[in-house]
Amino acid sequence: MKNCNPVERLADTRHEFGEHGGVNMSVEASTTFTVMHSNTMPDIFGGKKGPDHGGCYLYGRHFNPTVYNLGKQLAALECTEAAYCTASGMSAISATLMQLCDAEDHIVSSNTVYGGTYALLHDLLPPKTKIKTTLVDITDLVAVESAITANTRVLFTESMANPTLRIADIPRLSEIAKRHNITLVVDNTFSPLILSPKKLGADIVVHSMTKFISGASDYIAGAVCADAAFIQQLMDLHTGMLMVLGPTMDPQVAFNISLRIAHLPLRMTEHGHRTQIFAERLHDMGMAVTYPGLPEHPDHALMSQLHCPDYGYGGILTLDMGTAACANELLDLLQNEYHFGYVAVSLGYFDTLMSCSGSSTSSEMTDEDKTTASISPGLVRMSIGYTGSTEQRWRQLVEALNRLGFNPK
Ligand SMILES: *Cc1c(COP(=O)(O)O)cnc(C)c1O
Repeated sequence: MKNCNPVERLADTRHEFGEHGGVNMSVEASTTFTVMHSNTMPDIFGGKKGPDHGGCYLYGRHFNPTVYNLGKQLAALECTEAAYCTASGMSAISATLMQLCDAEDHIVSSNTVYGGTYALLHDLLPPKTKIKTTLVDITDLVAVESAITANTRVLFTESMANPTLRIADIPRLSEIAKRHNITLVVDNTFSPLILSPKKLGADIVVHSMTKFISGASDYIAGAVCADAAFIQQLMDLHTGMLMVLGPTMDPQVAFNISLRIAHLPLRMTEHGHRTQIFAERLHDMGMAVTYPGLPEHPDHALMSQLHCPDYGYGGILTLDMGTAACANELLDLLQNEYHFGYVAVSLGYFDTLMSCSGSSTSSEMTDEDKTTASISPGLVRMSIGYTGSTEQRWRQLVEALNRLGFNPK
């Protein structure tokens, strides 16, 4: 790939005019497409002729021009050859893993993955498909490598772990994956633009676009970014996980999300900027704050080496309040009295979203798995928004903390 600068590659995707020369692409609302020469139908059906090679669109669950276009933007963002969008992040993850693995195959995954992914690996896949997963501490490269067996097909990790904010050493994980001839899949939901897993050695990048990429908490959406051959496999009429299981993205959703890709760099910059300020000030107050942008974070040096400095260290921090009761008290004060943000799961919204991880997004995990993944009961995850002024938001946060007896040093 010649140019691997995501912002420049994104600009190069902006040459698609709308149907009447509009500056925005058109929304293609048709579910089926006219085949002008009926003798080409067999090749189109057989996947030999696609929208980009001599054929045309066929049916909306297969390829839709608007969804296909958003896919091109995602491929530009992640520096992959191709990408395709899905109805959710979970469908992007499940389709990818099931495409790569057959029955009895094995996955090695980080033990801190998103709750839904954990449920897929731990609860759903084994009884339904006999695909087994070994969960490991992804920062322990010896543990990762020793978990690999002759049946292992996939090494799966989040670029930035949820909610521990540990950073995956993608270059070294990629070396391990290559040595064992397995596919490295990285969920980059927490760090679009900040980390470029493909450039760092990942084979496939998946996203929940529900979060930062959409940025408005109004759509559930996902994407798989990979080489064209893998995207083609996902769309195969007989064995394609996206084609046959059918978690198709709506073209209206694709259109609306595509309008937000243009300001994703601005948004990621501001999320990172504000989160860095809050993390530093919370740290100075003596709070148990975790943020990769703090020198005290165990992966600060690694992240400094891997990230794109324009976007800082991300828009998420965690605050350990000790107990679930204290965490809940803080959340209620922040939302109901100080209007600092919302008590809600999810992240990447323009306003601040806060939740207690152990009882929300990681609640699918067993207590034992939560302990090994260091998810303590009082851990509050904050996705820092960029509405209001930084000082106004900081005042709101500090006043709530003061009420609970935490005072600036
Ligand atoms: C939210 C999330 C998912 C799941 O995405 P949906 O769009 O809700 O299906 C997967 N991985 C991570 C890291 C997430 O935060």
